[in-house]
Amino acid sequence: MFNPEINRALIAASDLINTAEGLKSAKPSPDTLDSVEGLSVYLHEREPELEWPTTTVNRRQLEKVRALRHKLQTLWSAAPVIEPKELDIINDLLDGVGIRVVAGEAGEGSAFRERPIPISDQISDVMTATVAAALSYLVTNEETGRLRICRGDDCEASIVDLTRNRSKLFCDFGNCANRAHVRAYRARQAARKDDEETSGPVRPRLTKPSAAEKADQLNRPTSATAIAAKEFRDRMREELMQKRQESSKATKKV
Ligand SMILES: [Zn+2]
Repeated sequence: MFNPEINRALIAASDLINTAEGLKSAKPSPDTLDSVEGLSVYLHEREPELEWPTTTVNRRQLEKVRALRHKLQTLWSAAPVIEPKELDIINDLLDGVGIRVVAGEAGEGSAFRERPIPISDQISDVMTATVAAALSYLVTNEETGRLRICRGDDCEASIVDLTRNRSKLFCDFGNCANRAHVRAYRARQAARKDDEETSGPVRPRLTKPSAAEKADQLNRPTSATAIAAKEFRDRMREELMQKRQESSKATKKV
């Protein structure tokens, strides 16, 4: 969606948040960033083009990466980012981060791009610079709505929507999209069944309903649609009465 470096940074940030304890597609998942080894595993799963160093991994760096994760969690939950306190988080991350103009990657659509320069070569600083630059790009392009939490039931997974038509709503941990579709389908079926039960099965009538029967039916709606129709009729009638009253007041004044 964006340039490859920004896409990679956003995916890495979203994956970092998902290392936290929480429900993923209705299944509890533990904190996998609870040790130096956990951080190494996370880093080894990154795309190599990110060029995040794995040599500086230690206890202190782990704590700093965990702190970065916490800030990203806050941003993701608040997205789209519009409040000053959320911008403050991004500006804190950007503190000391420099910019260099470098040649763009092939197929990027632009010959040059900005490259964030971290304040040190320690892994937490490198991660912070990459992610902060991507977030600043999203904010200035008003695209932070792409940072989302999965819409699935019992799912807290963070996602980043990199689709052109902003259609990604569910995570890839389990079957969140499928579960949501099944639920929506069942709800529609239940509503239809409910409708049939309350209004009774449709039987052909041998005699035409009398005018009194028709009026009675209209005044005692049974199904949800009939209730809505009655409410609409009542509202229209009220509005009409009001208009009539107003116009009669107006004529009286003259
Ligand atoms: Zn999900």
